[in-house]
Amino acid sequence: MAGALGSCNFTAGGYVYTGSARRNLAARIKRHLSASKTLRWHIDYLLADPDVEIIGVDTSSTPECQWNQQLSGGIPVSGFGASDCRKRCGAHLKSLPP
Ligand SMILES: [Zn+2]
Repeated sequence: MAGALGSCNFTAGGYVYTGSARRNLAARIKRHLSASKTLRWHIDYLLADPDVEIIGVDTSSTPECQWNQQLSGGIPVSGFGASDCRKRCGAHLKSLPP
């Protein structure tokens, strides 16, 4: 389950999620990495799945939508992580090419 998106099925593979924090990026990343938190965003539900492993975290000064759109890859779930996206990304979670 991914909140308002309902139940989502993900095939095994690599995915990249882009998000942003207006303030305190380190705290936001720490929250994403935390196992104990209230499930609020789509990514929280995905990361709560015991089969999901975080491989790495990267930061950039590039705006999240611009960075997201530069990434190659497919959109596994339309609208995932993009509730407040105004740049028509389609989703802020992308499946990486195999
Ligand atoms: Zn976007």
